Amino acid sequence: MAGSLQDLSGVILGRSKLLEETFCWRWTGARVGKKAYGKMWVGKRNRLVHRVAYEVFRDGKEIRGRQIHHICGNQWCVNPWHMEALTQAEHVKAQGRWELGPKLE
Ligand SMILES: [Zn+2]
Repeated sequence: MAGSLQDLSGVILGRSKLLEETFCWRWTGARVGKKAYGKMWVGKRNRLVHRVAYEVFRDGKEIRGRQIHHICGNQWCVNPWHMEALTQAEHVKAQGRWELGPKLE
């Protein structure tokens, strides 16, 4: 992974805000769409922040072949403990399944 894990974790923590209501980490940096996923530069790649967060804080390596599902339902959330890594088939089944709530705008 380009960039050290420590550097990336600092960027993620520095650009997100803890919401006391749900413990979501609301990404305050650039977004893919108005309400959608956060994005950030990792080396020369523009990547989805929630995937990078999962890798940095939980897996320690780049995730391949798995989808990251938000169990809080908030696409802008980058709290790696609000996510689970699923296969494509599992992810399709998981659509609309949010174990944490409430889902926020
Ligand atoms: Zn969340």
